[in-house]
Amino acid sequence: MAQGVLAYVEHRSGELKKAARETLGEGKRCATTLGTSLTAVIAGNNVEGLTAAIHEAGADRILVVSHPSLEEATTDGTGRAVVAAIKEADPALILFAATAEGKDIAPYVASALDAGLATDCVGLTIDGDSFTAKRPVFAGKSLINVKPVDLPLVASLRPNVFPVLSEPQTGSPEVVNLPFDDSHASRLRIKETKAVAADKVELTEASIVVSGGRGLQAPENFGLIEGLADALGAAVGASRAIVDAGWRPHEEQVGQTGKTVSPQVYIACGISGAIQHLAGMSTSQTIIAINKDQEAPIFGIATYGLVGDALEVIPALTAAVKAAKEG
Ligand SMILES: Cc1cc2nc3c(=O)[nH]c(=O)nc-3n(C[C@H](O)[C@H](O)[C@H](O)COP(=O)(O)OP(=O)(O)OC[C@H]3O[C@@H](n4cnc5c(N)ncnc54)[C@H](O)[C@@H]3O)c2cc1C
Repeated sequence: MAQGVLAYVEHRSGELKKAARETLGEGKRCATTLGTSLTAVIAGNNVEGLTAAIHEAGADRILVVSHPSLEEATTDGTGRAVVAAIKEADPALILFAATAEGKDIAPYVASALDAGLATDCVGLTIDGDSFTAKRPVFAGKSLINVKPVDLPLVASLRPNVFPVLSEPQTGSPEVVNLPFDDSHASRLRIKETKAVAADKVELTEASIVVSGGRGLQAPENFGLIEGLADALGAAVGASRAIVDAGWRPHEEQVGQTGKTVSPQVYIACGISGAIQHLAGMSTSQTIIAINKDQEAPIFGIATYGLVGDALEVIPALTAAVKAAKEG
């Protein structure tokens, strides 16, 4: 019978991604509640060196699938490696991060296992041996609780919602190296990977996001957003209106057809708060809205609202942040 918890570990440039640590942290919490252990699976090329970090982040047992053809994560290549590892572990709960990679591989895995899939979860509860996953629906307008009819349940977890382990786990893990049969090589080729510039914060992993919208009036005013983001060590986001207008690249778009973020602080500047924008940021822990229209819908979900001209408020805020840092 399926039992235990398994977490898929994302990595980049020889390091665990923050979302992977969160997946492992939540996996450990679930495993502890179930009175069982957490198994992690990592797939890639030369990834054996990451086992210590995976153990510290929560895993008791680590399945390693290391092969040159797994250098890049692909739906079918990595998916097959993960499915084979899952069959070895036979877990009841399989966790992914709801990142681009997790959103790609989790459905492949769920389909291959004929298992239920709960995507972009913001909560997981366990009662006895029954799981309930909480996830947003209708572009974030409502949250629903879903229960799997059968196990295993495959769930992807929204980044920045679940905490990492408060203390690194000590001791040593059980490490199992699994073979990879590359006779059916991936039919996908990654042609190019664009890394976020070293001095920039990745939008989906950032603790603070400063986003701008059409209320900034002109593309050259977006520098105000970047200035505030730099002062705060934040990532930059944008509404679709200004992405469609060509002011900003699509990779910065937050919302239903952009990225989903859930930072500790989200600062929306000159953004009206259309439902499609809220879909991408409404689970942020603290939302600060700056808008000159006090009736703007964004104030409906804002923790703090500032009614004013963004072109005046943002420079004052940036100066105050810099002064606070210096003082
Ligand atoms: C299928 C679909 C998918 C979509 N996906 C997305 C998505 O992923 N992300 C997304 O963002 N949108 C998305 N949209 C578009 C969405 O409906 C809105 O059109 C868009 O979010 C509006 O962007 P905005 O808030 O920047 O602009 P507007 O709605 O024009 O709002 C501008 C705001 O700025 C305020 N303002 C004006 N001047 C100032 C000033 N000087 N200082 C302060 N405030 C000022 C105004 O009061 C207003 O509230 C989608 C729409 C559809 C139909």
